[in-house]
Amino acid sequence: MSDYQKLAELLFPNITKTPEYYEALYPQRDLPEGAKVTRLAPSPTGYLHFGNLFSAMVAYKTAKATNGIFYVRVEDTDQKRKIEGAVEIMLSGLAAYDVIPDEGVMTDGTQKGIYAPYIQSERTEIYQTFAKSLVQLGFAYPCFCSAEELDEIRAQQEKEDIKGYYGSYAKCRNLSFDEIRARIDAGMPWTLRLKSPGDINRKVVFDDMIKGKIEMPENVIDVVLLKANGIPTYHFAHAVDDHLMRTTHVVRGDEWIASVPLHIQLFRLLGFKPVKYAHIAPIMKAEGDGKRKLSKRKDPEAAVSYYIQEGFPSEAVNEYMLTIMNSNFEDWRRANKDADLSEFPFNLKKMSVSGALFDMAKLTDVSKNVISTMTAEKVFALSNEWAKTYCPQLAALYAKDTARATAILNIDRENKKPRKDIAKWSDIPEYISYMYDETFAPCYELCGNATPGLAADVLESYIDTVNLADDKDTWFARIKELCEPLGCTANVKEFKQNPDAFKGHVGDISTVIRVALTGRTNTPDLYSITALLGEETVKTRLIAALKHYKEEL
Ligand code: GLU
Repeated sequence: MSDYQKLAELLFPNITKTPEYYEALYPQRDLPEGAKVTRLAPSPTGYLHFGNLFSAMVAYKTAKATNGIFYVRVEDTDQKRKIEGAVEIMLSGLAAYDVIPDEGVMTDGTQKGIYAPYIQSERTEIYQTFAKSLVQLGFAYPCFCSAEELDEIRAQQEKEDIKGYYGSYAKCRNLSFDEIRARIDAGMPWTLRLKSPGDINRKVVFDDMIKGKIEMPENVIDVVLLKANGIPTYHFAHAVDDHLMRTTHVVRGDEWIASVPLHIQLFRLLGFKPVKYAHIAPIMKAEGDGKRKLSKRKDPEAAVSYYIQEGFPSEAVNEYMLTIMNSNFEDWRRANKDADLSEFPFNLKKMSVSGALFDMAKLTDVSKNVISTMTAEKVFALSNEWAKTYCPQLAALYAKDTARATAILNIDRENKKPRKDIAKWSDIPEYISYMYDETFAPCYELCGNATPGLAADVLESYIDTVNLADDKDTWFARIKELCEPLGCTANVKEFKQNPDAFKGHVGDISTVIRVALTGRTNTPDLYSITALLGEETVKTRLIAALKHYKEEL
């Protein structure tokens, strides 16, 4: 037995499996030519940043556009950062925006797929098997340095360009088998370190799918692969997992670019086929004349939970995300107005190298457009679902009469030019407040040529003529008929030609009625509103308004 083999047995006496065993257990995937296998590998912090959703969507769409697989792997090797329920929070955040894994840790926390387990804390034996094989090959060694010794090294390195455990600083790198055995026999704790064959004067070159060709010095640091408790570090675990789970494309934030030389080195030493990388720049936000990263600390809209609470529908967020993800998306949308988003040929190469700019006003516009094209049934169903959790008052109003609620949402919808008042479900309570007595807030301010005097006259006549059985034309004809006796004209053009001859025009008369019924000067179709308010409410509100204007005179 060589010393390396003896060392491997000394360090890992309980590991009996081999890398070949796992290679056979987790076979190559049988996918169509060109299919990409991507993953999201969250650490369970419980916080889902908008940038995480963005990266997850990029990974998801990359897989979907090629009939590939998108899976979720939970990277929980850092037990200090572990938070109860964090995975569920994060995955339900993704699911709210239709990023549903094909495989791995599913939204309900269960695991699906033959490459299981997909939770790193359940894969310790696998990592140790590969760690053992690195020791056998002479690419890893135990390090007995204490925290104090490591601090000392750091202190000595203050002026060095390269910091870390390497070269002459790597005290344990060249211990002999007997020296190691003596320490282990003495019960000294150890970590397993990479014996990096890197050379600082050599370069690694790789072609990032988003950023293009990148050249960096090789990794020379003997990083920790396994901690003293036998748990792997992220770097080591992810390499083993991305290989065994047969990942083809690693899509992740560009804060990981600095680690790529190490990752490529690990893949090579482990004998794995390299993966392709796509590193995404952080989402930016305009501030003053410049821009900065969308920040968890400063921006409430940095949290995905914000969009869920506000009730931005998935379709809208997906549509908006694509506008900032792929530069050609908006042209595609113009040419394919009604196409489903899944038909868009998503391409990593069309991503912004410097970082997509997030713009709330644009998201709001996109969302208004998307919602305006939904049927009333859909708006009702989605907003009702949202309201059950985030706005019980709205859910309660809806529940009084769901058909009426749907009809309210259908005003000025399902036509060629639908109104675009709603950007998110949380806009709805205010938008429809006057349709319910519980939430109606009278406000008798007028606009245009309508004065309290004219209003009193209009209402006095209208109360007697309004008839909820009228069709729209008859309803409007009645309003027009009010004009002349009150010194107004039904003809707006006529009014404009000679404004001094009239007290107002039919628009002003409508305003009076609108304000009396809704407390607003601008609403969707007044005829539909009147019909849906019902006889009693209409009469009550008209009388109250009349009383108000009379008192004001
Ligand atoms: N667990 C890492 C993170 O949460 C994932 C990095 C990667 O995707 O490789 O940032």
